[in-house]
Amino acid sequence: MGLFKEGGEHQIQDLGNDQYNLTISIPADESGRMARECPSQECSPGYFKVTPGTGVIGGQALAYCPYCRHEAEPSDFATQEQIRYAKDMALREAHKGVNDMVRNTFGLGSSGRKKLGGGFLSMEISYKPGSLPYVHRPFEDEVRRDVICPHCTLDQTVFGLATWCADCGEDIFMTHIEAELAVTRLMLEDVERRQDQLGKRVAAKDLENCLEDVVSIYEAAIRAIVRRAMIIRGDSSELIETTFKKLGNAFQNIDRTQKELNSLFGKNALNEDVLEKLKSAFEKRHPITHNLGVIDRKYMERTKELEQEGREIRLSAEEISQALFDAKTAISDIYEKLIKGYSGQDFA
Ligand SMILES: [Zn+2]
Ligand SMILES: [Zn+2]
Repeated sequence: MGLFKEGGEHQIQDLGNDQYNLTISIPADESGRMARECPSQECSPGYFKVTPGTGVIGGQALAYCPYCRHEAEPSDFATQEQIRYAKDMALREAHKGVNDMVRNTFGLGSSGRKKLGGGFLSMEISYKPGSLPYVHRPFEDEVRRDVICPHCTLDQTVFGLATWCADCGEDIFMTHIEAELAVTRLMLEDVERRQDQLGKRVAAKDLENCLEDVVSIYEAAIRAIVRRAMIIRGDSSELIETTFKKLGNAFQNIDRTQKELNSLFGKNALNEDVLEKLKSAFEKRHPITHNLGVIDRKYMERTKELEQEGREIRLSAEEISQALFDAKTAISDIYEKLIKGYSGQDFA
């Protein structure tokens, strides 16, 4: 009689020599997603989720990290928390085995009691099994950035901006960008309803926040593209770090984006038409973020200039909607220019 009983919920197999094989299924989160962790130590954030049953189905030999494209067997992407859970479950099973062993050794029935002897001598052995250790379900941070791979339909969740599909390893960077912009678009479409319900001031704030989001997504996207382009051409990690320190928040500004990309890669990555349109939208954000929405003298002067040039100064939903569209065009142009020609396989 061994420590584990064969079969059962964990499909236990006795491999001999006190070796057992247990299959522990990892519970999914409430939306059916399962956490995964990149086995590479250098990878950041290295954490993501996939939805079992979507994407590559049956006999998947390799899975990929969405951030660094590390490739390994799907089981190598177990999170620390899942390994902890599996160990606890195995321990719990062993605990059951120990309880059974004690019972069998002494021939105790399910009552856990046995009367020995009789006549002159009678004794009773009882064994009270220890309560089984409680196993916590794996705890995972709540992150929700869901995207469905257009190539293999894997439904996956990532932190920040990822590049690769976790199942098929295809480049899905633009799909991630579109998903981010779509969230802002949804918020923008809700502004009118919120204005009716909560008033003009809230609606004005909503518009400001939406514009702020467009700028943030644009900046994050350009930073990710520049980093990847520098890695592809073989720049050292020191050079990449010092470059990024120098860049600061350059990509919150359209003119500076053009200037910096030109000095880094020797080409004007933004086309003039998109550049002009985005510039005027991005400019309207300055008084908002830097002065708590209180318009200062400098802004008034700038505003007069704009008015004299016959340009609208008020922030409108249409304008932000246009900025969302233009930001996507700009990001995909820059992506084409700086990354084009490099397939996923060339990127280590
Ligand atoms: Zn990774
Ligand atoms: Zn895919």
